[in-house]
Amino acid sequence: MEYSTVCGLEVHTELATKTKIFCSCTTEFGGGSNTHVCEICAGMPGTLPVLNEKVLEFAVKTGLATNCEITMYNKFDRKNYFYPDLPKAYQISQLYLPICRNGYIEINDSINGGKKKVRIHEIHMEEDAGKLVHDEWSDCTLVNYNRCGVPLLEIVSEPDISSADEAVEYVERLRAILQYCGVSDCKMQEGSLRADVNVSVMPKGSSKLGTRTEMKNINSFKAIHSAVENETRRQIDLIESGEKIVQQTRRWDDARGTSYAMRSKEDAQDYKYFPDPDLPPVQLSEKYVSDIKNALPELPEVKKARYMNEFSLSEYDTSMICSSVYFVRLFERTAEITGSPKDSANWIMGELMMHLNESSTLPENMNFNIDSLGNIINMLKGGKISRDSAKKVFKAVFDSNVSPEQYIKENNMEMMSDTSAIKDAIESVIAENQKAVAEYKGGKAQSFNFLIGQSMRALRGKASAGEVTKILKELLG
Ligand code: ADP
Ligand code: MG
Ligand code: ZN
Repeated sequence: MEYSTVCGLEVHTELATKTKIFCSCTTEFGGGSNTHVCEICAGMPGTLPVLNEKVLEFAVKTGLATNCEITMYNKFDRKNYFYPDLPKAYQISQLYLPICRNGYIEINDSINGGKKKVRIHEIHMEEDAGKLVHDEWSDCTLVNYNRCGVPLLEIVSEPDISSADEAVEYVERLRAILQYCGVSDCKMQEGSLRADVNVSVMPKGSSKLGTRTEMKNINSFKAIHSAVENETRRQIDLIESGEKIVQQTRRWDDARGTSYAMRSKEDAQDYKYFPDPDLPPVQLSEKYVSDIKNALPELPEVKKARYMNEFSLSEYDTSMICSSVYFVRLFERTAEITGSPKDSANWIMGELMMHLNESSTLPENMNFNIDSLGNIINMLKGGKISRDSAKKVFKAVFDSNVSPEQYIKENNMEMMSDTSAIKDAIESVIAENQKAVAEYKGGKAQSFNFLIGQSMRALRGKASAGEVTKILKELLG
């Protein structure tokens, strides 16, 4: 029998606020263990949470950018469970009245072609938990509460995703939107974007959903892809051998490429949700929402269309550049400095992509002055450095954020602007290569190329081939 994959994603994203959701501790990643923690986020009795307004703004922004309805009157609820990374023994979240509902993101339909909408069931605000650190050396488990109370949005899709490719594309598009809106840096390897992947299968053409399993906290695109594929296969094999799928939470082991059962699926009742009595309900005004709507940035799809139209960039280049806000920022700044969107795109698609690939660096981890690429291109176009040098300088910028101007000086890469000095150098080449000169005058064209090669070498590539050719011709008469 043929089967269809059905997949729904719950994506958690850490918000790029300076402080935590209910206290003023920093949200910064890293830091000494338990140094970003206070009595509120550590859940001490008698403390009271106060909502960080920035979280609200980011949630509304994200909802509007994903076509959601905003719940003008929304509330926080307690999700109760005990686990050592959660010192309060409850997580403040939103169950009954989440801040956003009924949105969608458009992706390519991998089954029928064309576009399709993946509906968003809801987006809610909640706090993150701490982190358990399993210490192999002393055979014990430690806990770091720095992450407790870091604000999260949970973005819950409907089960509208039909393949591993679609799951990846949905998360890619969602990530781009979150980054464009500036609500999250979405660094997957730091856990600031992670997905719970729900998968079920059903006979092709059926409309009755099968029993699903959920794989928690997957934090790379590759892992999302293989989790959907492998879980589909595992479920089909079970059904084909006459067994039933059990609804359960499974752990995806990316190193092994398989999932294994963690626990049977819990549902809302198990958490004994109730409205949080410490936080007042949130009532938004029309003006608050429309102000955020009016300030939304240009979103990926709109930007893509504009780039293709305005700058005549190819669809492929445009998609690549628009896929990450970090490329977009570099592209726009470089185009601004050089006045040439085309050059900007070419350098990003060529040299930059090459360095990113070779060093396995993600765009969000690029770490150089955003003006440097534009400045290098301008120096190249102004004849100050050769194309080879420009590439070398950019590599140094990419690797260690050097100042291009200083690097060029220190490495003596400036092109010679003094024509008489170039002339001197070529005259010595002529003097030292009388044989070739005679051959050239006797009609041997190759000898001219030889003399150019010698001259370029003498000038150590610091004069343009065009100029050298011109001067050599003049000197040879
Ligand atoms: P819970 O809150 O218990 O996790 P939800 O109904 O909210 O359950 O669903 C959670 C996620 O599971 C959603 O992203 C949803 O799209 C997805 N989902 C629900 N049913 C299925 C199914 N049969 N197959 C695949 N995914 C599903
Ligand atoms: Mg769930
Ligand atoms: Zn705190």
